[in-house]
Amino acid sequence: MKHFDVVVIGGGHAGAEAAAVAARAGVSVALVTLRREAIGVMSCNPAIGGLGKGHLVREIDAMDGIMGRAADAAGIQFRLLNRRKGPAVQGPRAQADRKLYRQAIQGLLAAEPNLTVIEDEVTDILIESGQVTGLGLASLGSIRTENVVLTSGTFLNGVIHIGDQRQSGGRMGDKPSIRLAERLAEFDLPRGRLKTGTPPRLDGKTIDWSVLDTQPGDSDPTMFSFLNKAPLVRQISCGITQTNARTHDIVRANLSRSAMYGGHIEGVGPRYCPSIEDKVVRFADKESHQVFLEPEGLDDDTVYPNGISSSLPIEVQESYVRSIHGLEQVKILQPAYAIEYDYFDPRALTLGLQVKSTEGLFFAGQINGTTGYEEAAAQGLVAGLNAANRARGQAPVHFSRADSYIGVMIDDLVTRGVTEPYRMFTSRAEYRLTLRADNADQRLTPLAVGQGIVAQGRRQAFDSKMDMIEKGRAALQACQLTPRQIGALGIHASQDGARRSAYSVLSFPDATISGVASVVPDYAALPESIQTQLWCDALYAQYVDRQAAEADLLRRDEDAAIPLNFAYDGLSSLSNELKSKLNRQRPTNIAQAGRIEGMTPAALAVILAHVRRAQ
Ligand code: FAD
Repeated sequence: MKHFDVVVIGGGHAGAEAAAVAARAGVSVALVTLRREAIGVMSCNPAIGGLGKGHLVREIDAMDGIMGRAADAAGIQFRLLNRRKGPAVQGPRAQADRKLYRQAIQGLLAAEPNLTVIEDEVTDILIESGQVTGLGLASLGSIRTENVVLTSGTFLNGVIHIGDQRQSGGRMGDKPSIRLAERLAEFDLPRGRLKTGTPPRLDGKTIDWSVLDTQPGDSDPTMFSFLNKAPLVRQISCGITQTNARTHDIVRANLSRSAMYGGHIEGVGPRYCPSIEDKVVRFADKESHQVFLEPEGLDDDTVYPNGISSSLPIEVQESYVRSIHGLEQVKILQPAYAIEYDYFDPRALTLGLQVKSTEGLFFAGQINGTTGYEEAAAQGLVAGLNAANRARGQAPVHFSRADSYIGVMIDDLVTRGVTEPYRMFTSRAEYRLTLRADNADQRLTPLAVGQGIVAQGRRQAFDSKMDMIEKGRAALQACQLTPRQIGALGIHASQDGARRSAYSVLSFPDATISGVASVVPDYAALPESIQTQLWCDALYAQYVDRQAAEADLLRRDEDAAIPLNFAYDGLSSLSNELKSKLNRQRPTNIAQAGRIEGMTPAALAVILAHVRRAQ
């Protein structure tokens, strides 16, 4: 029987990233997935990134992950969202050529020498004494492993809905994962049903582009990967159109025939990706909604109409789509549909994404109640790294809320659980002024280097970048400017007579990079990208100092580990309600315990004192 140090189930976004990072960590890895050619498939929208999500991709890339590099290779339109706001809340986004994205992911995985791809269905997870020992496969028998990362996405008991028609499926064109779902039901883990939906796919040849507005990408595209400077393929524009009163009338008149509104689906859907039915009901006073017509590829006529997902019957879809300007003659290539699937309550997981009750079993991606490629990939990175660490006898890696969006997401999931599909937003991060997309490498590459998961090329590129940043910062800090010199640069500073460092002057609202560079030759000599990075760093330097103290306190609490078998019942000063919450949620550190609803400072102090005593 073949043995692998780590086996990843599923070749979606979580699985690809999990397999890649485990292989980079130097252990032997198998990726078992239903269809080899479907590795890296984008189930829904042909786009990567966005607000909050773009931060996650940057963080994955900072750790030498593959999503950012694949998105750059496949990007056919790059836009930096929130460009007019500060760098902290800007989000890189790219529309991707579906085929190129899949090819890029498959190519990056094929380049990993420690990784074997197996096309098969996992039907069983073998357990002995609460510890994973292997997997059962539908065709190839069994494989032995002590570490499994499960990333089965929307496939567990997946049911596709179009109007009142339902069929089993993991997504359109793929069979669901039933036997594995049945096996997992025996694990006694809390689970539920969630749903999500996708719009119809349109034939671009039947769209009247001549009457539509278009939206081009940025003239100075922002890449996802710190290793890339410019797009690799031809760039395109999207079309823009709108729904109208007639569209809304058609949808409203047929609401009872929608799978989501007709009572056919019990699962909860993603609030932030509303279907056209949701929009018509929830925003009833709005007369129209924008629809972006996104080409799915450079040599593909399929168009993804972003903003009109649905679970209405096909004939209703045809009529509401054709009521939209420019789409009067449109042909639907694939109908919109909703999918309902099993997810597991992520509060059953540790901060390393291991199932608390089963050693060696890790969960990542949509099965943890999240939605989105980026959220899935970021979890895949965490679970894959920790599975590899378990295999190589290293301590698990926990990501702090103070250091990364990855840390924010994992902590939210395992501490609070989900009541609806979870997606990332910048507003979820309390330290967002320091957790910026532009400095993800400064925050995370050193950690990844320490874990041995960064290739030499990136390590060298990072070291040389940091070298330039340090030199530039030192030069800026050493240059003290008088109020007169500052004024001569066209910058208004308070007339208190004090000298200021060029570094702090760089953060003034009316300062320009070129102006400051004109008085600091060592700064002027740096590449433009490093000058811009130093400007971003300077802009937020005062907040960094302020947040650092708070973040230190948080990290201290995160470091105070609580054993999984900690006996809360023995603490007489805790209320019964709190004891039952603690017993159910089993926080793995004091910071997590502090976020449990109803926790009081006094109760936390009692727990901390007992944890310290037990150490
Ligand atoms: P997936 O990408 O689903 O990958 C799962 C993988 O597991 C597949 O490769 C599958 O073959 C494999 N697998 C499953 N069971 C087994 C088994 N037993 N053995 C071997 N392999 C197995 N996200 C959004 O952000 N917004 C949206 O509006 C949105 N709409 C969506 C609409 C639809 C219809 C669907 C299907 C998804 C939608 N998504 C949306 C979600 C997005 O596709 C997922 O968040 C993302 O793909 C999750 O990645 P994942 O790796 O967890 O799982």
